[in-house]
Amino acid sequence: MTATAGDPSPDAATAETGDEPLVQVRGLRMDFPVKSGLLRRTTGHVQAVAGVDLDIHRGETVGLVGESGCGKSTLGRLLVRLLDPTEGSIRFDGLDLAAAEGKQLKQIRRDVQMIFQDPFSSLDPRAPVGDSIAEGLRIHGIGDRKAQTRQVGEMLELVGLRQDHARRFPHEFSGGQRQRIGIARALILRPRFVVADEPVSALDVSVQAQVLNLLRELQQQLDLTVLFIAHNLAVVEHISDRVAVMYLGEVAEIAERITLYRDPKHPYTQALLSAIPIADPSLRRKRIVLQGDVPSPLNPPSGCRFHPRCPIAAPGVCDASDPELRVVDGEDRSSSTAHQASCHLRAGDHQHLDPS
Ligand code: SF4
Repeated sequence: MTATAGDPSPDAATAETGDEPLVQVRGLRMDFPVKSGLLRRTTGHVQAVAGVDLDIHRGETVGLVGESGCGKSTLGRLLVRLLDPTEGSIRFDGLDLAAAEGKQLKQIRRDVQMIFQDPFSSLDPRAPVGDSIAEGLRIHGIGDRKAQTRQVGEMLELVGLRQDHARRFPHEFSGGQRQRIGIARALILRPRFVVADEPVSALDVSVQAQVLNLLRELQQQLDLTVLFIAHNLAVVEHISDRVAVMYLGEVAEIAERITLYRDPKHPYTQALLSAIPIADPSLRRKRIVLQGDVPSPLNPPSGCRFHPRCPIAAPGVCDASDPELRVVDGEDRSSSTAHQASCHLRAGDHQHLDPS
C-alpha cells in the first residue's frame, strides 16, 4: 500500500513533553464477561485491553496496529466513550472522559468522533446521505435547516464529493465514496480528535491510497488529532507521526514512525515488518514467520504474552514476568514520544540476557 500524500508533519512527529497531550490514557483495562449455561452465569472474562498507557499529542496522528482480536478496536471505542472501561483513566484535554456528564459530555461528543470501517452500516439506507451527514448538527442544534444544508454541501466538497450528492441514497455510491461520506459525517461537527477504525480495510487496494491521502490532507487542513487503527503496518506508514503496535491487549512497542520502521525492537514488530513487501527487487528482507496463533484473551499466557510465539524467548524470564513498556536504551527518557517497547530482552533491565 502506497499513499503519496506528503510526509507526516515534522512538528507533530517531534511533539515534546512541554504540551499536555490532548489524550492521556493510563492503566486502561477492558474486560468483557463471558456468560454460559442456562442461567447465563459469568464464567470468565476476556481481557480485550489489558493495561494500556498512551499519550496522543495535539495535531498528531498515531497509528495503532495489531492482528485481529488484539484489542485495538476496543481501545478506539473506549477513547470515544462508546464503551466504559473496567479500570483506568482517559483524559481528553484535561477532562476525565469517564466522569463527564451533562453539558461537558455533550461538548466532548462534539470534539471526539469516530470513522468506522463499514460506513454503510452507519448510514440510513432509506435516507439521502445529506440527512445522515447533518444528523450531528441536528442533535447539537447547530444552525437552521438552510445553514445545515450549506454545511453538508461544503463538507461533501471537502471530502471530494459534490454538493448534489447530498440528495442521493447510500446504495448509489461506490465503497470509496461511501467512506468519504462516513468521513464527512464524522467531521461535520469539526471535532478535535478522531478515531479512524480500519477506515480503508474494506476498500479495494486502488481506492485505499486515495482515502488515505484524503485523511492525511484533512488532518492537516483541520488540525485534527487522529488515532488511526489498522491491522497492517504498511497502511499506517505514510499517515502516522508515531506508531503503536498492540499484542493481546497490550502495547508491545511505540515509537516515532521512522524509528519504528527502521529500528524495531520488539520481536513482534520485527515479525510484522518482515511481512511487508519491499518495492525495490534488489533489496531483500528476511521473513520472520511466527509459529502458532494469537492465544485466547480469555486465558492469556503467563509472563510476556508473546512468549509462546517469540523466536528469542528466554525460558525462566519471559514466561515468568510480564514486561512493562519501557524506554529503550539511548532514548531520551524524559520525552513522552520516546521509543518504548515491552520486552525483557530489548528494553529496560534484562540487557545481559539478550541472545542476539
Ligand atoms: Fe520475546 Fe521475551 Fe521479549 Fe516477550 S519479553 S518479546 S518473549 S524476548
